[in-house]
Amino acid sequence: MNNENFEHVICAVCDADNTEKICERGQFGLPTHVVICKECGLSYLNPRWNKERYIHFYEKEYDKYYRPNVQKNTERAGINYYQPVYERLYESGLLPDNIQQVLDIGSGDGNNLEYLMEKIPNANYYAIEPSEECRKTLTSMDVKMLGSDVDINFHEKFEGFFDVIIMRHVLEHFANPVSAMQKVRTILKDDGIAYIAVPNNLKFGNSKLLDNWFRVVHTYYFNVHSLENIFRKSGIKTLVMEEGDEYNQKELFVIVKKGDVQEANIKSEYYTIQKELFDKKLKKEKTLINNLKRRIKYDILQSIKTKK
Ligand SMILES: [Zn+2]
Repeated sequence: MNNENFEHVICAVCDADNTEKICERGQFGLPTHVVICKECGLSYLNPRWNKERYIHFYEKEYDKYYRPNVQKNTERAGINYYQPVYERLYESGLLPDNIQQVLDIGSGDGNNLEYLMEKIPNANYYAIEPSEECRKTLTSMDVKMLGSDVDINFHEKFEGFFDVIIMRHVLEHFANPVSAMQKVRTILKDDGIAYIAVPNNLKFGNSKLLDNWFRVVHTYYFNVHSLENIFRKSGIKTLVMEEGDEYNQKELFVIVKKGDVQEANIKSEYYTIQKELFDKKLKKEKTLINNLKRRIKYDILQSIKTKK
């Protein structure tokens, strides 16, 4: 392990530096130091790759791991996978009347935007996306690029500009979810709404934590309590918060608007609930035979990569 690529982080909800270690390796055997804050129950990576390492990963490596089809330029994933964004917004009855400006943060190769463009054809579409390959695709779809990264100051030029902002499985990737949500607050119109979906860490079902759920790219592991605390700190008001539906049982999705900044709700039971659930699942996964299987799998993966 190369230590110079790592940085230490404190809790984004309560600013404490008081955590308990959950694991050190996650999906693909990559370094994934999941910890849980003993004060407020937020789970996050600590230490984690530094900014430079993450930028390199998202620009050059992410597609190889997570979007093999982007580079091959073959068929797109089934549209149904993205459909819930519009359907959930529509069914909520919270979509603004005259939608003009739509921003998709973390658009990938534009699957979600393509569907939204069909449903709301008269709006202008904007995106923030780090992958070089995906940015080319988005530009070819007439999507205006605000930048490659949520950490740049894109918000200064777009104060009160957007009717709808989409963040589908992106908040869990960010370096600082509070500063990201503060920017979202700045660029939303007063009657604008944001749709946010993240993996639900109280409902991971049969997913294997060590082989799939815990990922080097997931810097945060939210549940209803920690996500609400992030919003309180950022001045975001929750209109809808649901733990899964017929489209996806393992997803926590919310619809929010601008609100007032409030203090986070710090409760020790939030720590206990999350910790016990992780422990119970990991105990099942960390049997001798599972450890062995994992070792063999990563050895094979490693030897394939070395050959390339
Ligand atoms: Zn905390």
